[in-house]
Amino acid sequence: MKLVRFAVKGQIHTGILEGNTVIEVQPPAGDWLDHSFAPTGRRFDLSAVTLKAPCEPSKVVCVGLNYRCHAEEVKLELPRKPILFLKPSTAVIGPEEPIIYPAVSRRVDYESELGVVIGRRASRVRAAEALQYVFGYTCANDVTARDKQPKAGQWTYAKGFDSFCPLGPCIETGIDDPENLSIEGYLNGRLVQAGHTSGHIFPVAELIAFISGCMTLLPGDVIMTGTPRGIGPLQPGDRFAVVIEGIGRLENPCIAQADGGNGP
Ligand code: MG
Repeated sequence: MKLVRFAVKGQIHTGILEGNTVIEVQPPAGDWLDHSFAPTGRRFDLSAVTLKAPCEPSKVVCVGLNYRCHAEEVKLELPRKPILFLKPSTAVIGPEEPIIYPAVSRRVDYESELGVVIGRRASRVRAAEALQYVFGYTCANDVTARDKQPKAGQWTYAKGFDSFCPLGPCIETGIDDPENLSIEGYLNGRLVQAGHTSGHIFPVAELIAFISGCMTLLPGDVIMTGTPRGIGPLQPGDRFAVVIEGIGRLENPCIAQADGGNGP
C-alpha cells in the first residue's frame, strides 16, 4: 500500500495511491498499524491533487554517518554508536515544494536517505521486535547547510532550516527488508548518488532500538537513516530527486530565500 496525504481545494486528505488514482481514506486515530484505513468513497486522479508530505512527524530523528562509503567521503571516523540529531517538524515539506536556500548560507547540500515512518508508539523496544513498530518507508532528503556544520557540532542548526526535510511521495507499507533497497539521487536529472541500504552501518532495527531507548517514538515520527556517498551542492534553480526502490521518486526544486534574513 502506498499511503499519501494530498490537498484538494485547500483541504488536506489522506489517500491510498493505486496507479494514477488516489482513493481517499479515513486514517485511524492513534496506532496506524491496525491498517483500518476506511475508504470514504471519493477518488481523484493523481493529476488533480497536490501531494503533501506523507505524514506529520512530531519529530524527525536523523542519523549521521550511517554508510561507510559516506564516512570515508567526508573523512570522518566510523561511529561506534549511531550519531543522532533532530530536524524540527517545521523543516518538513512534500514533493515539489521548494527547498529554500537560506540567505545566510553559501553551501547547501542534498543527501538522499531512506525515511522510516513509525506506526506504533515505541519506547525501549528491542532490535528483534523493532520492525514491528514500522508503518512503512518513504524517500527523504537531509538538506544541509554544510558551511554551518563545523565538524565539532551544530548539526541541528545546519540541518534544521525551514524546508530542509523533504519527505514523500508516499509511505510504502509493503517493504519487508529495509536493508535491501537501491537508493539514488539525481541532480537536474543526472545520477549523483547510487547507493544501497545494505551499506547501512546500523540497520533500521538497531536504530529503532537505540533511539527508542532514549525517546518515545510516536506514530508518524520519521527516522532518517543516513546518506550514501555522492553528496554535493545545490544551487537555486536546481531540482533534486531521491529515488528508492519500491517507494518512488521525491523531487523538489531549490529556490533562493526571498528576504535577507538575520541569522549569523
Ligand atoms: Mg544525513
